[in-house]
Amino acid sequence: MGSNFRGIRIAFSENQENTLIKQQGLQRSFYLLALFLVIGITLFGAYLLWRDVRRDLRLAEMRSQFVSSVSHELKTPLTSIRMFAETLRLRRSKGQKMQDEYLDTIVNESQRLTRLLNNVLDFSKIEKGKRIYKMESGSLPEIIRTAARAMEYPLSQQDFKLHVQIDEDIPDILMDGDAIEQALLNLISNAMKYSEESRDIDLKLKKTENQAVIQVIDRGVGIDPQEQKKIFNKFYRVPSPENERTAGTGLGLSLVTHIVEAHGGRLDVESKKEQGSVFSIFLPLKRES
Ligand code: ADP
Repeated sequence: MGSNFRGIRIAFSENQENTLIKQQGLQRSFYLLALFLVIGITLFGAYLLWRDVRRDLRLAEMRSQFVSSVSHELKTPLTSIRMFAETLRLRRSKGQKMQDEYLDTIVNESQRLTRLLNNVLDFSKIEKGKRIYKMESGSLPEIIRTAARAMEYPLSQQDFKLHVQIDEDIPDILMDGDAIEQALLNLISNAMKYSEESRDIDLKLKKTENQAVIQVIDRGVGIDPQEQKKIFNKFYRVPSPENERTAGTGLGLSLVTHIVEAHGGRLDVESKKEQGSVFSIFLPLKRES
């Protein structure tokens, strides 16, 4: 026991030795466990950090993609508005018919710009939690007809046929009519954009026991099953060659979802690749005020 206790020895019995060895073993196991725990927590923390950074990077990339697609989408109608207006001012257009066509295009392109800007402005309000819906009693069949009328010109310009089918026996509901119309315009625009060669689109309003169902049906490119959930996320666009050829901001469906959910409803998609898509809006018929 050292120089101060010369001659004194400590002897352990076999039992005590065993207990000591056990205790040391336990201690070692405890330290090992603690070490694994610390390593585990550190690795888990690193994974969370990596996931956050990756998500932020992806969002930053999507935002920058969004800015360039919005700029592109603004540029196209602005260019044609300027071009047609200048042709009219220089009186280069021949005859009344041609002038009317140019004016129609200017009106149509301005409406397209308005739709795009409305989407961007509403998106920014939603992001700030400031999008307010003005709920009033209104007629869904009327809204469907208004949306179909608003799209008449762009549809006819691209030779589309919109087959409208309305169940008139639908009671008025509490809704923000402008917002529901905006949702429909987004779905019809998408049906046009992703139709490829097909020229037929259906717009239906039906009734189930306690829901109104609005459907926009196209026979276009369709959507892969694994993409079907992602398309409702803001900025998301299916990464496919046909999508790259089509202008878009990735905002439309996220806005439609927000509008529909604000009405206590839901947006759903059924789609098959190369066969087309059915987007359905379900709205409750009996809503408390
Ligand atoms: P955008 O059309 O501006 O890209 P959306 O939010 O409206 O943005 O749509 C997100 C994505 O969902 C689109 O990029 C497209 O890939 C897919 N999509 C939407 N509607 C359809 C449709 N009717 N047919 C096929 N794909 C669609």
